[in-house]
Amino acid sequence: MTNSNPESQEARTVSNFLRDQMAEDVLAKKYGDAIVQTRFPPEPNGYLHIGHAKAICIDFGLADEFGGRTNLRFDDTNPEKEEQEYVDSIMTDVRWLGFKWDRLCYASDYFGQLYEWALQLVKAGKAYVDDLTADEIRQYRGTLTEPGKDSPYRNRSVEENLGLFLRMKSGEFPDGSRVLRAKIDMTSPNLNMRDPVMYRILHASHHRTGDDWCIYPMYDFAHGQSDSIENVTHSMCTLEFADHQPLYRWYIEQLGIFPSQQIEFDRLNLTYTLLSKRKLLQLVQEGRVSGWDDPRMPTLSGIRRRGFTPEALRAFCASIGASRTNGTTDIEVLEHFQRDDLNRRATRAMAVLNPLKLVIDNYPEGQEELFEVVNNPEDPAAGVRQVPFSRIVYIEQDDFREVPPPKYFRLSPGKEVRLRAAYFITANSVLKDADGNVVEVHCTYDPASRGGNSPDGRKVKSTLHWVSDAHAVSAEIRLYDKLFTKADPNDYAEGESFLSNLNPDSLTVLTGAKLEPSLANAKLGDRFQFERVGYFCLDRDSTEGKLVFNRTLSLKDSWAKIEKKAGS
Ligand code: ATP
Ligand code: MG
Repeated sequence: MTNSNPESQEARTVSNFLRDQMAEDVLAKKYGDAIVQTRFPPEPNGYLHIGHAKAICIDFGLADEFGGRTNLRFDDTNPEKEEQEYVDSIMTDVRWLGFKWDRLCYASDYFGQLYEWALQLVKAGKAYVDDLTADEIRQYRGTLTEPGKDSPYRNRSVEENLGLFLRMKSGEFPDGSRVLRAKIDMTSPNLNMRDPVMYRILHASHHRTGDDWCIYPMYDFAHGQSDSIENVTHSMCTLEFADHQPLYRWYIEQLGIFPSQQIEFDRLNLTYTLLSKRKLLQLVQEGRVSGWDDPRMPTLSGIRRRGFTPEALRAFCASIGASRTNGTTDIEVLEHFQRDDLNRRATRAMAVLNPLKLVIDNYPEGQEELFEVVNNPEDPAAGVRQVPFSRIVYIEQDDFREVPPPKYFRLSPGKEVRLRAAYFITANSVLKDADGNVVEVHCTYDPASRGGNSPDGRKVKSTLHWVSDAHAVSAEIRLYDKLFTKADPNDYAEGESFLSNLNPDSLTVLTGAKLEPSLANAKLGDRFQFERVGYFCLDRDSTEGKLVFNRTLSLKDSWAKIEKKAGS
């Protein structure tokens, strides 16, 4: 099976150094006639986020461009933090993004082989059992400016090491009492090369291997060899692993196994967004959000529920490419790609989020009409639909001002506007409640403007969306804003945490929205543009009797900008 990536066209559009290196290697037959092989190696300790989408697009997208293959490999060497729930969600998310893995692999499948290789290094005098405590190991390691010191256990005989390592494996020793270390160089300028730990003792149940093992390999002793076992030619990872590359190569060279190569690229950072599983887990565990798929979360499950599309994410990832230095991308770039995609594909509908009742006094009571509107002006194939109209309709509260401010072109007493695809109407009077709030606007309509067309060339400055009272379906609408108030959520005062940057107004729930009746048939996964309001999708909390819609994104609201400038 090869990757069938429908969007590799997109990915090809932006050049990046990873693609260049791959092309060079293929041309030079660095791996002979072997195909390009990549892997995406998540640790199943949380849900995937937008940063992972970048890595996925690189791992799968590039391999596909070169006719290669990509494995999904769970890097599951940390039994305490890993769970089946995460494994399942990761598979769902990779598929949702539109990619198919060649082989499904688990680092834990290689525990036996890794153990054999560890024995091989012990026998070659290149690994030893160390009895120092974790603290002592840290002290002996030295610092960036000071060389490390040899452990007193460094020169144990091969026989002694073999015996101790076997006893570690058989469960004779408590957690943390001993480790197996590679014997490299305690004075190396690279701290990763100062006799790195290969195995630790951990009497913990693993989500796949159960209680088979009580020693577990460290990331560095598992990753490169796993790549090698799978004949990975290009092992792409983020820049924080650059310092690990010499160690990655050292193990492969010492073992004389398939020479996978590691290449590092920049981590995706987005403004107003945290891309760290650990911190996202904290938000979930502390109940700051409703779960991993809360639509405000930057997880793939969160933005999927919010209404984001895999097409937009892939286009976004293709546009940002990859580089050798870390930077931060403006969240608005991602939103731009999402709006662009939804503008092309979302079905238009009329929905009034904050309804104000409009009574058309001269429209015959009991009369109904159907007006035809196009489903998507960007896509003629989307067809048309009929929207019912009657004497009482709802408009947005924001679309009426009893006393209009300057440059306000929507409805106010004495002004004429168009009700989209229906009629020209003129506001005459208002009805107020005891607190002085306008609760009803009384209007007259011009029957000659049927279909919303000017009967005599006369112009109106506004076209308002509306929903007929007699036909409306009610819904709950959830409006989302940024989860953090600061562009860098990790910028917080001493003694505080990123939690102090949480936006208290990131969720607004509107319970009284009125929707055109066609939306009663909305299904999960359908995407809509509520005209003049924004992009929306049905939420999974919807039930037979209650519709819930999520706002994916607002439309760009020019009026909000004018209003802001005017300081009103
Ligand atoms: P986190 O810090 O969020 O837990 P991680 O790097 O520990 O992320 P892994 O599950 O180990 O997460 O990551 C799988 C792959 O995704 C790795 O190759 C990693 O480099 C890549 N990756 C993770 N975060 C990002 C990001 N923000 N941008 C690009 N790639 C990323
Ligand atoms: Mg990790």
